[in-house]
Amino acid sequence: MYQVKEIFYTLQGEGAHSGRPAVFMRFSGCNLWTGREVDRGTAQCQFCDTDFVGVDGENGGKYKTAEELALKAQLVATGLGKEKSEKIDGLLIVLTGGEPLLQVDEPLIEALHAQGFEIAIETNGTIKAPDGLDWICVSPKAGTEIVQRSGNELKLVYGQDGIDPVQFEDWAFDHFYLQPMDTLRVSSKRSDYSQINIHDETDSLTDQVIAYCKAHPKWKLSLQTHKILNIA
Ligand code: SF4
Repeated sequence: MYQVKEIFYTLQGEGAHSGRPAVFMRFSGCNLWTGREVDRGTAQCQFCDTDFVGVDGENGGKYKTAEELALKAQLVATGLGKEKSEKIDGLLIVLTGGEPLLQVDEPLIEALHAQGFEIAIETNGTIKAPDGLDWICVSPKAGTEIVQRSGNELKLVYGQDGIDPVQFEDWAFDHFYLQPMDTLRVSSKRSDYSQINIHDETDSLTDQVIAYCKAHPKWKLSLQTHKILNIA
């Protein structure tokens, strides 16, 4: 059983694949926060901007098998809206959350590949990724034990206390990104993005990231362009 908050087709907004069309599959639940505002102050991760609670989003639900979930992703991508198989040719699917590695397993990876997807995952790195993923993006959170120390992209949210980019520079990633924290910490109904485009503190963090990247060229700036553009 896979519990999925939502599945939608959009452009990847962040990191190395920014601007690339992708199906987003958001899994329910995270191991660093319950997702409830009342628990935010005591959570291991306190700056989350994502609603990953429940299965009530667009195309969300409880999927009994990997094949059923992969077919749903294929239908979202093709817009067919019916139980008809049409092979996807290398379209990106981003497995995200919440923490997707609480649920993503090799059968799902096989089923998504069978549909023709290229599979990326966005994880907090506290759970080891299974084999077979095509792109691994790790976003470390301060005070947590990161076990996934290799992959394609390390994307550090800048503005966290108690975490320094320097500590990751020897890890085995192809790309190193700093992304200014969305300091409003809004629970993200995606339609609310227009309200969080401009914020003085985030702008200040962006200036700091720009200065940091110029002084440390291993790092690149990642912006949440989907919020800037107000797209899903
Ligand atoms: S930002 Fe990521 S790790 Fe932190 S609570 Fe949200 S989903 Fe979990």
